[in-house]
Amino acid sequence: MTRPRFIAGNWKMHLLAAEARRLAADVATAAAARPQVDVAVFPAFTALHVVRETLAGSRVLLGAQCCHEAAEGAHTGEVSAAMLADAGVRVVLCGHSERRAAGETDDAVGLRVRAVLRAGLRPLVCVGETLADREAGTTDGVLARQFAAACADVAGAELSSIDVAYEPVWAIGTGRTATPQMASAAHASLRGLLVGKFGEAGRGPRILYGGSVKPVNATELLASPGIDGLLVGGASLDAAQFRLILENS
Ligand code: PEP
Repeated sequence: MTRPRFIAGNWKMHLLAAEARRLAADVATAAAARPQVDVAVFPAFTALHVVRETLAGSRVLLGAQCCHEAAEGAHTGEVSAAMLADAGVRVVLCGHSERRAAGETDDAVGLRVRAVLRAGLRPLVCVGETLADREAGTTDGVLARQFAAACADVAGAELSSIDVAYEPVWAIGTGRTATPQMASAAHASLRGLLVGKFGEAGRGPRILYGGSVKPVNATELLASPGIDGLLVGGASLDAAQFRLILENS
């Protein structure tokens, strides 16, 4: 099955509004030159408004880095999926390792995935093992546990709204990248989990690789079996680097 490439930029807790506006304009221009590739950016909440304005009329999807699982309520400091939809967001990261490290549990990720789908948005579900998991040989088990919780309440018919990102924790922001072989093996394991739970529908979601992706390693990763796209952190903050990654996708 051919799946359209998906290149996503996680801006994390960076960029004031004016900087976000400039970067979004550059991404929109770069994406216009690659119409066969799906592109999304994930600004901080405070920049969603200006990035939405800047991306108007472009093919770039507006993303958010998280949301609360409740529809509304007494949750000071939180943002609901419906609020994100109202702000023009189309896709939401669920279970990014930096949030898991801050206490987000597997079950909470599952609730967030449900909330995102309920609001009519697309979850981009992040899973990945730590270095200790990898060294202990438990990578597949960790992926299976995180996947099961994230998709506990997902129906096969909803899979066309979901993508997955394999992000080994030890490769995020460290400059260490999984080899294409390691990434492909993890992607195969995740595809097996998707098909095992959902049957043929499990072939639909794209599985992105994330972890210190740069222009220098992006092409090789994308050429590896089972890698449908890239979730780029640090390099997505640099317009020239992100454009190069897109140009070679
Ligand atoms: C990320 O934040 O999802 C990520 C992969 O970051 P980096 O590319 O900086 O490792």
